[in-house]
Amino acid sequence: MEPQNTRLRERYRFIDFLYYITLCAVPFLTACYAIYKHALGWMLVYLVLCIAGVTIIYRYYCSHCPHYTREGRTTHCMFFWGMPKFFKPRPEPLGFLDKTLALLSSFILGAFPLYWLFQEPGLLVIAVLSLIAFLTSVRRNECSRCIYFECPVNKTPEELKSNEDIA
Ligand code: SF4
Repeated sequence: MEPQNTRLRERYRFIDFLYYITLCAVPFLTACYAIYKHALGWMLVYLVLCIAGVTIIYRYYCSHCPHYTREGRTTHCMFFWGMPKFFKPRPEPLGFLDKTLALLSSFILGAFPLYWLFQEPGLLVIAVLSLIAFLTSVRRNECSRCIYFECPVNKTPEELKSNEDIA
């Protein structure tokens, strides 16, 4: 059943950040452990890829988000807490390059550990189930009241968008 999200999510609290980052950590650490069991070097490569991928997403996708473009020198949202705004805020809509790079980065970070996870069926099950729990939590609790209207997966109803001013 869809939750009744009757107000826009204008601000996040630290406990929201803690909740989502903890959920997200389970598939990530499971993937790291699966790679580590077979090749420490490839796990280090994966960590470097993760830093690069998140930086690209932060630069091309997050820099358009109202949680980023609003006042202040740091970002406070469900995935970043106190992260400096390294890049210029860009309140205009996402362009083709922004979407492509963000999607490609997410795909590479998700696909990279699969080779090692398939060699560890127990860890694969944990990674898949925890990833589903993470993604469905975001979808169920956030997307239908999110203030990032330009996001391609935003599900905020039109009446909710027009009813409130974004702080
Ligand atoms: S809410 Fe999402 S898109 Fe917005 S700054 Fe945070 S991580 Fe980026």
